Amino acid sequence: MEIIQKLNILADAAKYDVSCASSGVDRAAKKGKLGNSVSGGICHSFTSDGRCISLLKVLYTNHCKYDCAYCQNRRSNDIPRATFLPEELCELTYNFYLRNYIEGLFLSSGVIKSPDYTSELIYRTVKMLRDQYGFNGYIHVKAIPGTSRSLLERMGRIVDRMSVNIELPSEDSLKLLAPDKKKEDLVSPMKLIRDKIVEREGNAKYIRSTPKFVPGGQSTQMIVGASGDTDMKIVRLTEAMYDKFKLKRVYFSAYIPINSHPLLPAVDTAPPMLREHRLYQADFLLRFYDFKASEILNERNPNFSRYIDPKCQWALLHLDKFPIEVNKASYYELLRVPGIGQRSARRIVQARKYSKLTLEDVKKMGAVVKRARYFITCCGKYDPTLRFNETSIYHGLLKSADVTDNQLSFFHTETPGLFLKEGAV
Ligand code: SF4
Repeated sequence: MEIIQKLNILADAAKYDVSCASSGVDRAAKKGKLGNSVSGGICHSFTSDGRCISLLKVLYTNHCKYDCAYCQNRRSNDIPRATFLPEELCELTYNFYLRNYIEGLFLSSGVIKSPDYTSELIYRTVKMLRDQYGFNGYIHVKAIPGTSRSLLERMGRIVDRMSVNIELPSEDSLKLLAPDKKKEDLVSPMKLIRDKIVEREGNAKYIRSTPKFVPGGQSTQMIVGASGDTDMKIVRLTEAMYDKFKLKRVYFSAYIPINSHPLLPAVDTAPPMLREHRLYQADFLLRFYDFKASEILNERNPNFSRYIDPKCQWALLHLDKFPIEVNKASYYELLRVPGIGQRSARRIVQARKYSKLTLEDVKKMGAVVKRARYFITCCGKYDPTLRFNETSIYHGLLKSADVTDNQLSFFHTETPGLFLKEGAV
């Protein structure tokens, strides 16, 4: 098979992995315009200093001995299959880099023969790229669950990021939909990567030349909507993974129904994009707003609202903490106000040292006042045009919610309504 055919098959097969951000735009070159875009193959990632870099995103092979129900590459699917040779993938990466198409490689794979056999091929490719081709760009490799420790350790010394997909939010879902994968096989590489990163950081304090181990850290991906797991389950697992494995990112991937299976949504079901969006909003609350998963959702409210974002949902369930006075509240109290972000909270805390702030001032600090005004007072005054009660705040927030009917149709739950407070009947 021609290398370009392999590239088409293996780039297309990699498109469902979202753990390195975007892909999917197909745009032909136009006369008088610069550049074009292809849907498969090139995706983007962000470096620690915020730079966006393009990556060649491919599978090493889309042959797979496993039969995960949700996967395009499962062994029971009748699809075109291909496998790169190490030299072919090195040539592609090197030449794309020379032509400035890419700045790095994102490499995942199906499993042929065994996890170790597949990982050894991936290792040989990456090693060849580094040593023989002198490639010094970014490399992100997906670890194959079940790979031996020594092989993962060797891989971790030559790649920038290594990640393992947790795939599904619970062990029960894993047993049903990916019975060949064992929870322990997913978790133990994460533990190993964490331990090696910590060990390296410790040693580097004393010996600066200690070799780096996955300097870009590890991330994971979870499929959302393929199983019946609640948002609460997903958010709690996300928090646990950040805490236990020191992950850089947890990515959520709305399940795109591509296979017929009695336990999966029907093939013509729209992917739950808004649910994925809500999970990213909650992930932001965990990582940057000092929220705990147990505060965001609970047994009485196990799923996100389709109408308002998780921070508004939390605030509505905790009206006893509001309204807060912007001229007195701590930075962390301000962070909990819907519509006030890190930057606006910092600006408010700084500006109020010099004068008392009004609602107009809060707006100038960058806060989204159409949401924040329900939860704050300025110089002791609540917005006189509003009433501070659950029903009117909820309906006011609904009006300001940026949700289209199209997005709403991705959810299959209830019509707008107030939330149940914990312990309420
Ligand atoms: S192991 Fe990976 S590639 Fe193979 S069927 Fe499962 S999800 Fe797909």
